[in-house]
Amino acid sequence: MRQPLIAGNWKMNGSRTDNRVLLDGIKAGIGDVKSAEVAVCVPFVYLADVQLQLEGTPVAWGAQNLSTEAKGAFTGEISAAMLLDFGCKYVIVGHSERRSLYGEDDQLVAGKFEVARQAGLRPILCIGETLEEREQGITEQVVARQIDAVIQHAGVAALADGVIAYEPVWAIGTGKTASPEQAQEVHAFIRGQVAKHDAGVADGLRIQYGGSMNAANAAELLAKPDIDGGLIGGASLKAEDFLTICKAA
Ligand code: PGA
Repeated sequence: MRQPLIAGNWKMNGSRTDNRVLLDGIKAGIGDVKSAEVAVCVPFVYLADVQLQLEGTPVAWGAQNLSTEAKGAFTGEISAAMLLDFGCKYVIVGHSERRSLYGEDDQLVAGKFEVARQAGLRPILCIGETLEEREQGITEQVVARQIDAVIQHAGVAALADGVIAYEPVWAIGTGKTASPEQAQEVHAFIRGQVAKHDAGVADGLRIQYGGSMNAANAAELLAKPDIDGGLIGGASLKAEDFLTICKAA
């Protein structure tokens, strides 16, 4: 049985005051979340606050990116060890915004996945096709390429230490969710792609859906057999909406 993971991706949002209100709200309602594991992935600068506020609660936390380097002259970068220093459990790697806006390619993302994993963090590997790629009918090729880059670099067993988030780029922040059937189809394909290498790893692998998942549509997406949680952007910024999604899992 795969425990669903609902993770908030705050992106570049928040303030110390707003975060406190949000986390107080989540903490107040977390007792009603029965089956999902819950996490929030926050901007680096808030990790210290978030650690203080979430330590000892069932809510885990993490970051949205990391460096492949361990330490040294890499101005502006943040290492895996630094994230561990602030109690992070998760780190998002290869989010489509980082791939498209900051030029992160499959090899760099695979490197980040493995560095995070080796350090003891659980990487959340984001994959997904653009609208153009979907319209060209190459969705499966794209997600297979994105997964295979990690398998080639880190080995298939490495996936057991992480999570995959299938996030169709056309659904992110657009209000256009993939239908539960569309999402399930790709999730099943992803699991099958991993199963070609190792059926056991594929079976245990948590594959989250991300892309305009919200309080209204979460339940039917999460009901699908290969959808093991959600990576939630916009709807993770309001405690009530986020908790509704957590309870639907
Ligand atoms: P969204 O973002 O829920 O706002 O679409 C999801 C994500 O980018 O992780």
